[in-house]
Amino acid sequence: MDRNTIQKILIGLFLIACIFIGLKTFNIIGFNEFTEAQTVSNTVDLNANVSSSRMTYGRFLEYLEMGWIKQVDLYDNSRNAIVQASSPELGNRPQLIRVEIPVGASQLIQKLKEYNIDFDAHPIPRKSIFFTIASNLILPLIFIASLIFFFQNSENFSGNSGSSPMNLGKSPARFDQRPDTGISFNDIAGIDEAKAEFEEIVSFLKEPERYTLVGAKIPKGVLLVGPPGTGKTLLAKAIANEANVPFYSVAGSEFVEMFIGIGAARIRDLFKKASENTPCIVFIDEIDAVGRERGAGIGGGNDEREQTLNQLLTEMDGFKENKGVIVVGATNRVDILDAALLRPGRFDRQITVNLPDRLGRIGILKVHAKNKPFDKDVSLVQLANRTPGFSGADLANLLNEAAILATRYKKKTITKNEVNEAADRIIGGIAGTTMEDTKNKKLIAYHEVGHAIVGSVLENHDEVEKITLIPRGGAKGLTWFTPEEDQTLVSRSQLLARIITTLGGRVTEQVVFGDPEVTTGASNDLQQVTNIARQMVTRYGMSNIGPIALEDENNEQMFLGGESNEAIADRIDTEVCKIINHCEQIATEIILDNRVIIDLIVEKLLDEETINGDEFRQLVKNYTVLPTKN
Ligand code: ADP
Ligand code: ZN
Repeated sequence: MDRNTIQKILIGLFLIACIFIGLKTFNIIGFNEFTEAQTVSNTVDLNANVSSSRMTYGRFLEYLEMGWIKQVDLYDNSRNAIVQASSPELGNRPQLIRVEIPVGASQLIQKLKEYNIDFDAHPIPRKSIFFTIASNLILPLIFIASLIFFFQNSENFSGNSGSSPMNLGKSPARFDQRPDTGISFNDIAGIDEAKAEFEEIVSFLKEPERYTLVGAKIPKGVLLVGPPGTGKTLLAKAIANEANVPFYSVAGSEFVEMFIGIGAARIRDLFKKASENTPCIVFIDEIDAVGRERGAGIGGGNDEREQTLNQLLTEMDGFKENKGVIVVGATNRVDILDAALLRPGRFDRQITVNLPDRLGRIGILKVHAKNKPFDKDVSLVQLANRTPGFSGADLANLLNEAAILATRYKKKTITKNEVNEAADRIIGGIAGTTMEDTKNKKLIAYHEVGHAIVGSVLENHDEVEKITLIPRGGAKGLTWFTPEEDQTLVSRSQLLARIITTLGGRVTEQVVFGDPEVTTGASNDLQQVTNIARQMVTRYGMSNIGPIALEDENNEQMFLGGESNEAIADRIDTEVCKIINHCEQIATEIILDNRVIIDLIVEKLLDEETINGDEFRQLVKNYTVLPTKN
C-alpha cells in the first residue's frame, strides 16, 4: 500500500469517527439500548410461531390479577419485560407480549412472587459492556490518531494533495521539478507580437544582472488577454522552457472556495513556494475568477473572494524588487478585472492575444501538421482561407479530427477528403444521410443552387465554396461561401448582398415551383434576413430614417425625445419591409435571368450531391459573365 491509499483510508475513518462522535454527543445513538432491544427481538423471533404484541403496564397488572400471565422475563434492569400470557381475550392461545415497565414500579418482583409467577431477570451480557466501552473509546482514538497522522505528514504531502482536510490551505499548483514544459517558441505560431514581448522576459530570467545593472525594472506581472484557445497557456509554458526556470501553473477557479480564508491561504502558499525557487514563472489561468472587481459579484460582495484577491494584491506588492518571480495571468475578460490588479507594480503589462489572421492560421496549421502524414493534395493555405474566426485550439482540433477520420477509413495518409470533412463537421455539425424523398430533394437542390447563383452574380458577396445536399446540423442542404477575412467593417452594399443571397433560396422555390409549393424550409433564412435589415435601420443608419442609432446592440430602444416609441417602432418596421422587398425583387430578377443554368446545375447536384466552388463557377461561366471578386 502506498502513502496515498493509506491517506485515503484514514480520511474515511476520520469522517466515520466524526459522524459517530457527533451522533453520540447528541444521544441519537445509544449503544446500550441498541444491544438490549436486539436481545429482546431475538427472543421474539425464536418463538415466531407464537404471535407477539405489546401491552401497557396497567393492563399487564390486570392480566396478573386475572391469573393469565404464565412467565415473565425481565431485561434491561427491569425496564422491559417479555411476558408469556394466554387469555380468553386472546383466544386462549399462548402469546408473547412486550411490556415497558415504568421507572419506580418497584413492587413488581414482589407482586410476581405473590402471584407465584415464574420469572427471570436477565443481566446485561458481558459482550455488551465490552461493546459499550469500545464504542466510547475506539472511535475517538481513531480520530486522534488520524489528526496526529495528518499533522506529521502534511509537510510531505503538500504540493499534490489539495483534497486532504489538513491541506486545504496548501496550494494545488503543480510544481514542475524540471523546467521542461516541452513547449518551445517554435511550437507557437500566429501571435508574433506576443512572442516578441515575451522574448524580453526570457532574457531577463536568464541574465537578470544585465537589467538590474542599468537600473531597469522588469515587470512583475504580465496579463495575457484574449479569447480561449489562442495560445496563452502555450506562451507561458514556452517562456518557462526557454528560460529554463520552474513553471507553476494554477487556474483561478482553484482559489474560489466555500470557506473564508482558504483561497487566500492557497495564494500565500503558492507565492511562498515560488519565492523559494526563483527565478520562476507563476501562471494563473482564468485570473478573472479571483480578480473580478470587488463588490460587483451577484448579491453584492463576496468575502471569500475579496480576501483571496487582497491576498494576491499583497503578494504581488510583496516582492518590491523583482527577484525573479514573474506572474503571468490569462483572461478573456479584462473589463471585469479589479482596477487594483492593473496598477503599476502588479499586472502592469498587458499583452493582447488575438484570434489568428490568415497568415497566422497557416502558421498554426503548419505547426500542428508537422507530425501528421498529409497527402500531397492537402493545401493548408486553402484550409486557412476557409477558417476565419478559428482559434489555434480550433485549428489543432480540426487537424486532429482529420487524422481520426483517416484512421477510421484505414488510410495511411490524411487526404483532402478527411480534412474537408473535418472542417465541415466543425463548422456545420455532424453530417446526416441524404434523403431519398425525390420531390423534397429536388426542392432543396433548387433552393441551394438559388443561394449559390445569386451569391455569385452579386459583386459584393463572398465566393461560393461548395453546394451540398448532405444534411448537416439542422440544415437539409447547405451552400458554403468562403467568408471574408476581416468582418469588422461591412459596407451597406455587402449587407444588401447578404440579404439578397439569403433570400435567393426561397425566391427560387417560388419561381420554379410556384407560390403554393413554397416550404417552411426557409424560416432560418428569413430570420437572418430580418435581423440584418433591422440592424441596418436601427443601428447603422442605413435607411431613410437617417444616421440615427435607434437601438443599442442588445436591441434595446435608445431614448429619443419627441416622437413616441410606437411611432418610431412603426417607422422602423416600414423601413425594414422596404429593404427586404427591394432585395427580394433583385433576387427574383437574378433567378429569372439564370433559369437555364439553374436547371443544369440542379441536375448535376442531384447526381453528385456535392459540387465544389470551382466546378460551380466553371459551369456558370458558360452562360453568364461573373463579376471579379476581391
Ligand atoms: P488558451 O490558454 O489561450 O486558452 P492554450 O494555450 O491552452 O489556449 O491552447 C490550447 C491548444 O491550442 C494548445 O495546446 C495548442 O495545441 C493549440 N494552440 C492554440 N494557439 C496556438 C498557437 N498560436 N500556435 C500553435 N498552437 C496553438
Ligand atoms: Zn436557405
